[in-house]
Amino acid sequence: MSDTENKPQTNNTSGEVVELYQGAKRIHPKKATGRFANLRIAVLIITQAVFYLLPWVSYNGRQAVWFDALGRHFYIFGLALEPADLLYLTGLLIISAFGLFWWTTIAGRLWCGYACPQTVYTEIMLWIDHFVEGDRNQRLKLEKEPWNARKIRIKTIKYILIFIVAAWTGITFVGWFVPIRQVVPAIFSGTASFGVLGVAFVYGFMTWLMAHIMRGQVCLHMCPYARFQSAMFDHNTLIISYDAERGEPRGKKKKGDDAPKGACVDCSLCVQVCPVGIDIRDGLQYQCIGCAACIDACDEVMEKLKQPRGLVRYTTEAVLNHEYTDADIKRQLLRPKVTGYGTVLFIAIIAWIVGISTRDTMRVDIIKDRGVMVRENRLGQFENSYNLHINNSSELPQTITASVNGLETITLSGLPKEGVVVQAGEVLNIPVQVAAEPDYATKGSHDIQFTFTYQQQGSTETRQFTKKTIFIGGE
Ligand code: SF4
Ligand code: SF4
Repeated sequence: MSDTENKPQTNNTSGEVVELYQGAKRIHPKKATGRFANLRIAVLIITQAVFYLLPWVSYNGRQAVWFDALGRHFYIFGLALEPADLLYLTGLLIISAFGLFWWTTIAGRLWCGYACPQTVYTEIMLWIDHFVEGDRNQRLKLEKEPWNARKIRIKTIKYILIFIVAAWTGITFVGWFVPIRQVVPAIFSGTASFGVLGVAFVYGFMTWLMAHIMRGQVCLHMCPYARFQSAMFDHNTLIISYDAERGEPRGKKKKGDDAPKGACVDCSLCVQVCPVGIDIRDGLQYQCIGCAACIDACDEVMEKLKQPRGLVRYTTEAVLNHEYTDADIKRQLLRPKVTGYGTVLFIAIIAWIVGISTRDTMRVDIIKDRGVMVRENRLGQFENSYNLHINNSSELPQTITASVNGLETITLSGLPKEGVVVQAGEVLNIPVQVAAEPDYATKGSHDIQFTFTYQQQGSTETRQFTKKTIFIGGE
């Protein structure tokens, strides 16, 4: 049975057999050069410098940015977050989401085209392709060539480079969660745990699979953001578009041909550089990741032809419909959708900064002793017992003291007046007693309040917070 016989087929009106499901063709884009290619390279260098180098930076004797999953602490320079700070991590996610909504409304798929890891790693893999195998035409030629010594040598060099990039990416990824200065020597000395090796292998393998093998297929079939982002587009959103009015009828002007021609000379360079293999001249397509390679390619052609750039450019649907000109695009930044997302984003960022800078790094849970609700002490007072669960989430020792109020004559014992020192990251359980004269601690429950004051070692600043609980009175 032939391969075609295995695939679903249909007959079109001309009787031609068409496969319903076509396999993805491997795309060999031509290297684009120009303004937007330079911008992509700059973003790539910045994002990858952060990814590969930041884990090597130290702060206060530890890795500066360290997502210590086992110790359940996240460290970002002077900021130490623990599970109780989940709210702030959630806040960061909300800020990122609104940032993305805001940016997408203004300028479409900027994230996809310049900063998404899928785009960035695909670009790195394409650099390797280009560096080892040559530009598009040489790569296409090599693909068609039968296997011979030259082809084997070229492919071997290429896969060694890809392996180094993928392996180092996997190792670096682990280094964000386990100190990288321990991970790297452990891997190279063969003492790394299976967990470390397993995560590094999976991440490195996925880098190779998604950036070298699947490439644009990930954006087409797997990325959820690619699916819902059109909901954020409107006709004032910047899109990469071909100016059909200026470009058509396309084609080179031939001698003796008096038919009017547009600016597009049909050189197909904009198609050759496209990493997802589409023709921007067919209009806005969901496959377009907004990389702007076609703008660079067409601008180069226009410059050679001494024509103005911008046959393919960033513009809006409204400009193409003659609602306003390219010069008026900036004014669209004040439209309600953009200012709405921007306002929410601004408020979320301010709330996050205020919250994180004023959060208490000493936390106390008051747990009432349920075994003995109330008893009479040797002074004839009614007494309740509590457990103070004290957690110092800062990176320095802190001293904490406590007082209690809410009832006349109420006193606290069990915690020294000068306070207790809680070491960095330490959790203490301290039993304390609260007592009051029977005249005031009458039968039933009374609302009382603990006031905690704490101070970080070496600091003169004290911080205070209160916690409410109940006191059970006697007969
Ligand atoms: S059409 Fe242009 S912007 Fe879109 S993916 Fe292709 S080259 Fe990039
Ligand atoms: S690069 Fe420009 S001139 Fe060449 S085919 Fe594309 S749109 Fe036309």
